Amino acid sequence: MSLAVGVLGASGRMGRMVLEELLRPEVLDRGELRLAAAVARPGSASLGREAHALVGLSPRLPGDEVRLVAPGPGCFSGCDVVIDFSLPDALAAALPHLGKVALVSGTTGLPPETLQALDAQAQQAPVLWAANFSVGIALLVELVQQAAAAMPEADVEIVETHHRHKKDAPSGTANALADAVDAGRGGQAERSHGRVGQIGERAPGPIGMHALRGGDVVGEHTVWLLSQGERVWLGHQASSRATFAAGAVRAARWLAHRPPRRYLFREVLLP
Ligand code: NAD
Repeated sequence: MSLAVGVLGASGRMGRMVLEELLRPEVLDRGELRLAAAVARPGSASLGREAHALVGLSPRLPGDEVRLVAPGPGCFSGCDVVIDFSLPDALAAALPHLGKVALVSGTTGLPPETLQALDAQAQQAPVLWAANFSVGIALLVELVQQAAAAMPEADVEIVETHHRHKKDAPSGTANALADAVDAGRGGQAERSHGRVGQIGERAPGPIGMHALRGGDVVGEHTVWLLSQGERVWLGHQASSRATFAAGAVRAARWLAHRPPRRYLFREVLLP
């Protein structure tokens, strides 16, 4: 029996990548996954469009057609798992429509109340939220934790660059990298965002966070560890959003039908 997958944010940059990943001929040939729902913003010009057509493909059979709908009761009916790349408000509004359907979410910039709502949803269904679905970033997080522990006195600065359309700052991944520094050092360092004016000498302790925005950059992160006499920098560059889509689909296959609780992307990679 194939896994029925819904996509929330289907018309967006990431949503389309997820559709492309799900509807690849090799994936369809294996018969393990099938697109069951595609949801976009109320008022979106894509509502009513056929999901295959949205990414330049055609449904193989008339029964494979899936039209984009707005969020609402029953929008995920028939789904085993939903993959979400949308906006914080959109995710919060969609949660009540999930019921016991598994959720893989990559939406960033979530406020505390939506994180709490994910915890509540995880009482009745499996939930996996990750700031980044690339394998390379998962590895970077591990390396940063080790480096921060090995260089406890080093000043840490995190620099991230994203395309001009990105709405939140710092990126969810930059926050996850700062969390990795904290995990390596066993504490919670203050985070200072950018610098301007007569700020005086750099105090030891705070993690400096810096967000560059522009052009079409998919995502770049560098963590600097600056100490007396030497410096280390660990970085990652994503060259295609397809990386995140493949990671999210991998997570969806792994997550569906697991017991209700919150899961981490790391558990998918290192079972
Ligand atoms: P986008 O603006 O291109 O797409 C947003 C999508 O959300 C659209 O399909 C839009 O129709 C939908 N949407 C907006 N409001 C809605 C509502 N009220 N109800 C239903 N749908 C609604 O954005 P994007 O570049 O695709 O990024 C989406 C999210 O994914 C962002 O938070 C981004 O930071 C995050 N992201 C995460 C990863 C990761 O690996 N975790 C990677 C890339 C992007």
